[in-house]
Amino acid sequence: MRILVTGGAGFIGSEFVRSVLSADAKSGITVLDKITYSGVEENLAPVARHPGYTFVRGDICDTDTVDAVMPGHDAVVHFAAESHVDRSIDGAAPFAETNMVGTQVLLDAARRHGVGRFVHVSTDEVYGSISRGSWTEESPLAPNSPYSASKAGSDLLALACHRTHGQDVVVTRCSNNYGCHQFPEKVIPLFTTRLIEGKKVPLYGDGGNVRDWLHVSDHCRAIELVLRGGRAGEVYHIGGGREITNKELTGMLLEAAGHGWEMVQQVPDRRGHDRRYSLDITKIQRELGYRPRISFAEGLAATVAWYRDNRAWWEPLKARAALS
Ligand code: NAD
Repeated sequence: MRILVTGGAGFIGSEFVRSVLSADAKSGITVLDKITYSGVEENLAPVARHPGYTFVRGDICDTDTVDAVMPGHDAVVHFAAESHVDRSIDGAAPFAETNMVGTQVLLDAARRHGVGRFVHVSTDEVYGSISRGSWTEESPLAPNSPYSASKAGSDLLALACHRTHGQDVVVTRCSNNYGCHQFPEKVIPLFTTRLIEGKKVPLYGDGGNVRDWLHVSDHCRAIELVLRGGRAGEVYHIGGGREITNKELTGMLLEAAGHGWEMVQQVPDRRGHDRRYSLDITKIQRELGYRPRISFAEGLAATVAWYRDNRAWWEPLKARAALS
């Protein structure tokens, strides 16, 4: 199978590309990535010599580029997105453009060129916030941030292509990911790198917001299951790592770094901050046999160690993005 992977130089996309290519000498992947502030082509260095690997720098919103790249692929796995909620609060335009227009350009081109399966990678944030219980794939969408609204819009565009054109589209919605190569603006690498630098970490509000954390490799394995066995026109939840509050997470990161609570600075809450996310993952377990493999304690320890050992990866990124 030859797969077009959009956003393959980012955190999750690069894990997907590395894992598919390193498992199979015969598979082929073309990465289409604009290399925005969060894209890092060196994330793909371990597979750069794989005979089936091709890298194209380009924008998913540009129809000519997408039309040139699309032919010859059997499937699209679509990761490319503007992905950081705080940035979407500062300015929503790139989120509407990349997440919605870019998705529409890709869907149309895939149809035009007769590409089969289209896996649209999305997020639990499209459902908004839930105080008790868990969302099923039938729960209504109620996004609260410009990021999640733009992802919800792209999910609906993808599903509409199945209903209107019979296109072979599948949507995945995953909980919060963590692991190595995550851009250091997201909470786990942000807190970890700040503690390594001896700086305080900014905790939003009362720290009571609950997130389900899933290791990026469990997410990518689930995407492969959906790519090969998911039913067209369906949504699949991916999650089941561990639900914890941001305060509990902060405590674990402080302990890993050998620091106490004096390193925490409470900051005003994020505008529109969702209180809790929770996904019911029964469907993917029952239909595709998915189970997360990496415990949060084990995965978090490995992630913190990776950031400790790879300052040369994140220091230039922080400088480039003017992150303190
Ligand atoms: P990321 O920001 O690390 O990577 C995004 C990648 O997309 C980058 O390589 C960037 O250069 C590329 N990109 C951005 N705009 C582009 C454009 N116009 N054209 C081509 N490439 C472009 O993001 P991530 O955390 O790896 O997230 C990947 C996908 O997974 C996103 O769709 C996101 O919504 C979804 N997701 C993320 C999480 C999470 O916890 N990180 C959870 C669930 C779903």
